[in-house]
Amino acid sequence: MKEDEFEGISIKRETRVVSPKEQKKDSCEQQERNTVRPDCFADYPGQPQAKDNLMVYVKAAQKRNQVLDHILLHGPPGLGKTTLANIVAKEMKTPFYNTSGPSIDRPGDLAGILAGVEKFSILFIDEIHRLSIQVEEVLYSAMEDFSIDLIVGQGPTARSVSMPVAPFTLIGATTRMSSLSRPLQSRFGIQERLQYYSSESLALILQRTAHILGIKILPESAEILARRSRGTPRIANRLLRRVWDFSIALEARVIDSKVIQYALERLNIDAYGLDYLDKKILSVIGLQYKGGPVGIETIAVTLGEERATIEEVYEPYLVHSGLINRGPRGRSLTDKGRKVLEHP
Ligand code: ADP
Repeated sequence: MKEDEFEGISIKRETRVVSPKEQKKDSCEQQERNTVRPDCFADYPGQPQAKDNLMVYVKAAQKRNQVLDHILLHGPPGLGKTTLANIVAKEMKTPFYNTSGPSIDRPGDLAGILAGVEKFSILFIDEIHRLSIQVEEVLYSAMEDFSIDLIVGQGPTARSVSMPVAPFTLIGATTRMSSLSRPLQSRFGIQERLQYYSSESLALILQRTAHILGIKILPESAEILARRSRGTPRIANRLLRRVWDFSIALEARVIDSKVIQYALERLNIDAYGLDYLDKKILSVIGLQYKGGPVGIETIAVTLGEERATIEEVYEPYLVHSGLINRGPRGRSLTDKGRKVLEHP
């Protein structure tokens, strides 16, 4: 950590967790497209609404030569929130500072981060719902007035001093919008919810990843894999890597449907793309609790899993796929969920 001085207060400047990634390349078109994580809008399939809106806001901010408004991205994990934030920074040609809610313990940590942020740069805070209330309060004035109030001294001599912050854009990401405090949520001028991807978009993502990694996969195999990826690029890319491993073990020249079927069986992923825990959740509701409704806490305890994991990672997809319903008295199986359970 480096120490900076402001009005006699030493501020620890974080250099480890938060470090700007240099945005040296000039424009999206001129970049070499060789990283699995896309770094321009053109290489980011899916999320048409969020993407198109962000493109407009970025262009407008550039035209006005003004700082881009603060952005909140929400939705289940692995849908591309971090990737989009990074793309916004690249398109704005500004530095990207990356940190997360749990790693900002105290207001002083945030002050240290903000002291190092440059004009117009992007500060990305992942899991922003996990910021403490004390840190949130410092963030409010930073977001609104580009200044923060710090308390100097103790007891009767304590006084509040205002420290200026360079105009910056905060991009917050959360998987739990409901856990975000109202005052914080209302300070984001731009709010976009990311949706599960269509199989078509995921197939494009898979083909791009395969191309970058030098994996030979038939288009129809990419489509099968896309349909088994729970609408999530992170899962699609992970499955592709595992299927690649199996193709090497099988000495297959190319990933065809035979390799895919074999690998998916070995990975215990069924025709609906459901994995072991998805199926356990369906069976707890369907068999142990006779179709529900059953509370999320009970499901979590029965499975020996964290409630947050079930709520943030598993449940949204099961609801999205129409397999379970979320009601005031708990979760229950739908007719489709019952069919999936009875005919796996
Ligand atoms: P989140 O922040 O929402 O958890 P990430 O941005 O970390 O998700 O994305 C997870 C992975 O999926 C990344 O490795 C990224 O390469 C890939 N990914 C996400 N969205 C896309 C997209 N639209 N196109 C291509 N790859 C994507």
